[in-house]
Amino acid sequence: MIKFDQVTKRYPGGHEALRNVSFEIGKGEMAFITGHSGAGKSTLLKLAAAIERPTAGTILLNNQNIGAMRRAGLPYVRRNFGLIFQDHKLLYDRNAFDNVALPLAIDGIGGREAGKRVRAALDKVGLLPRERAMPIALSGGEQQRLAIARAIVSRPAILLADEPTGNLDANYARDIMALFRSFNEVGVTVLIATHDAGSAASGNVLHLDHGVLAR
Ligand code: ADP
Repeated sequence: MIKFDQVTKRYPGGHEALRNVSFEIGKGEMAFITGHSGAGKSTLLKLAAAIERPTAGTILLNNQNIGAMRRAGLPYVRRNFGLIFQDHKLLYDRNAFDNVALPLAIDGIGGREAGKRVRAALDKVGLLPRERAMPIALSGGEQQRLAIARAIVSRPAILLADEPTGNLDANYARDIMALFRSFNEVGVTVLIATHDAGSAASGNVLHLDHGVLAR
């Protein structure tokens, strides 16, 4: 589904964040990217989601070379992905329902259809009773679950999460990992970057060390 072949990423200024990285993640797999801070985990996710382009090498998404794609095609590529970040990136002046409805609004889906999908997404993460709550009134773990609801509401085939448990205590972190597993169990491909090797104990692990993959 996602295939990196000899991918190198050099940022402007000459810093090489990834060097000759090759791996493949199959449809329906769950994989973890581990490594120290600055190892290149975020860069790898950004390349996979076509947010950044590789300096060299090829990145295939369903056999399509997304690293070499024209800019106009990128929004279509990005529709395959639900993205989740450590800091949630929620809108703090909108309630839970409206935060989850936002990606649908961008796709031109509103009204009853949007309401149905938003509530289904909130239900999957256990936040349906809190649909009117403002993010600030939610705990850290609940805010992360809200961010996950927003990422899944458009039913992406692939979930990419960057340190999704980074700010959470152990119980909440376990809860979030279990949620990712539940999506994986119904066929969603899941790729999670974490500096915490413990939460990556099971599954396919890609370990980065200073931009180099050491499996
Ligand atoms: P990680 O997610 O493992 O902490 P990153 O992918 O964020 O690692 O960063 C890898 C390396 O690339 C680091 O040295 C970082 O400073 C550098 N880097 C990341 N983003 C940029 C950028 N936009 N411009 C320049 N250097 C960057």
